[in-house]
Amino acid sequence: MNKDASIFIAGHRGLVGSAIVRRLQADGYSNLLSRSRAELDLCNQAAVNEFFARHRPQYVFLAAARVGGIHANSTFPADFIRDNLQVQTNVIDSAYRHGTSKLLFLGSSCIYPKHAPQPMPEDCLLSGPLEPTNEWYAVAKIAGLKMCQAYRRQYGFNAISIMPTNLYGPGDNFDLQNSHVLPALIRKFHEAKVRGEQEVVVWGTGTPRREFLHVDDLADACLFLMQRYDGEQLINAGWGEDVSIRELAGIVQDVTGFQGELRLDTSKPDGTPRKLLDVTRLKAQGWAPRIPLREGIAMTYEWFLKHQADYR
Ligand code: GDP
Repeated sequence: MNKDASIFIAGHRGLVGSAIVRRLQADGYSNLLSRSRAELDLCNQAAVNEFFARHRPQYVFLAAARVGGIHANSTFPADFIRDNLQVQTNVIDSAYRHGTSKLLFLGSSCIYPKHAPQPMPEDCLLSGPLEPTNEWYAVAKIAGLKMCQAYRRQYGFNAISIMPTNLYGPGDNFDLQNSHVLPALIRKFHEAKVRGEQEVVVWGTGTPRREFLHVDDLADACLFLMQRYDGEQLINAGWGEDVSIRELAGIVQDVTGFQGELRLDTSKPDGTPRKLLDVTRLKAQGWAPRIPLREGIAMTYEWFLKHQADYR
């Protein structure tokens, strides 16, 4: 990827897309293309095709997706499956048709079966039933990575797929109902501290285990693969270790300085019991993450403090 190559970042306002843009800019890439939803509706096939015909980006980071936590996924299953299928189909197909040299598709660790071996290797894909709370999103993402593999096989299109673990960092969604656990906890602990409340409610039993990767580490992995990896095999991207939700809540409590108690609300779903990726394949390519969880949470809390007015 030359510094003056034209690079389209689909989803540049999201957690992942914005981190990729920051990283590309920091590295001196000067020809970045992005469009807001108002300017280009990625669900609209004709509009996407026209955009690619006009701009013919050489590289595409496909980070646009409808995403959300456990509550959003189970409340809006139709929106999750439709929007994700449409966006990825339109972008992958248009990129191929208009001569893009390489495309990187971002999937998710929820593509793997609910009872996959832990840590989850790429090869456990489609070996068992999915976690029901996010199967709509997962099925769309599986279709996306299969489409990349199929376009590579039939058309020789250089499309690669990366499967990130749970991500967090600046630009995350801090909405209490629809976000993922980490931003939700940061906001809950912070607001409880500021309001002098005695208790913070954590959903579920606190025993599920999750792995978290800072989004700047993921952006680094995306560039690394865009520059060095041309293959059909999926690549997992994770930190390599997980924590229980209870432990995670303890770290967020420390970082935010909340003095009260935690209460577990077991009427809320736990979701899948454990989600830890096997990152052997990415490590073997020569990549490793750099931002430890506590440090990453502290950085994210600082970002939240600067931007919290946007979340009221
Ligand atoms: P998942 O990784 O797809 O299951 O999605 P989430 O990030 O939404 O949830 C991860 C785990 O954190 C689940 O066991 C949730 O029940 C638990 N959790 C605890 N407190 C919260 C919260 O305030 N918000 C969310 N989204 N999850 C929470």
